[in-house]
Amino acid sequence: MTITETAPGATPVLRLDSVRKTFGRDTLVLRDVSLDVAPHTVTALIGTSGSGKSTLLRCANLLEDIDDGAIFLDGEEITDPRTDADAVRRRIGVVFQAYNLFPHMSVLDNITLAPRRVHGVAKKEAEARARELLERLGLGGKAGDYPDRLSGGQQQRAAIVRALAVRPRLLLLDEITAALDPELVGEVLGVVRDLKEEGMTMILATHEMGFARDVADQICFLDGGVVLERGTPADVFGDPRHERTRRFLSRIT
Ligand code: ADP
Ligand code: MG
Repeated sequence: MTITETAPGATPVLRLDSVRKTFGRDTLVLRDVSLDVAPHTVTALIGTSGSGKSTLLRCANLLEDIDDGAIFLDGEEITDPRTDADAVRRRIGVVFQAYNLFPHMSVLDNITLAPRRVHGVAKKEAEARARELLERLGLGGKAGDYPDRLSGGQQQRAAIVRALAVRPRLLLLDEITAALDPELVGEVLGVVRDLKEEGMTMILATHEMGFARDVADQICFLDGGVVLERGTPADVFGDPRHERTRRFLSRIT
């Protein structure tokens, strides 16, 4: 079907199998969502506001319980009640739209917190890795600064560094440029592009259609609680199969 379909024998990094998620009695957000994310690929989740993109990412990271279905990380069912949720979250890096960094801590302390406290990495080693990542993401001089001294774009890049500091298997990026001034969007998307080059597996919820088209291996259009359309950017943007996809794309692009 698509070039990103997991090759026979290769285990997807993440698999959602008929996932259902409701809030309370009346809000059915994910009705039946199935999705495979192959290693070293980028998946873009698109869909109108309220279509469940953030909920999907939160379920994948076990921040939300699901009502039905199953989620697998590297072939292991993480929605099994016996799963150690903290251990799962240690393998997944997450960056949200905004307010990612602790304001009362330096950039360096923000980044080394999880490696030191959660992963038991020695301070010296954690700081060395943090500085190396900061350098790579163009923030070499910012280690000692507090977040409010950084621009929005620099803060998001620091948040990405923090997510990377624990060497995640998978990175979830939830509209990470949505709160940024337009002139700062490019520097953050550039980082995502670089991470893709390095082979990082990522799922991003985004309204940046041009970027999704450019960087994603797989596009998933969420609509009505299902992945209504899934395929390569050329398929989904160039030749959408569903009228609803066409309508969404014509509104947003
Ligand atoms: P998107 O990220 O695509 O904009 P969301 O996943 O944030 O969509 O939201 C999907 C739907 O779920 C919305 O109707 C939203 O109001 C609802 N929702 C999300 N989180 C909660 C929650 N904690 N409690 C109740 N409803 C929620
Ligand atoms: Mg959202």
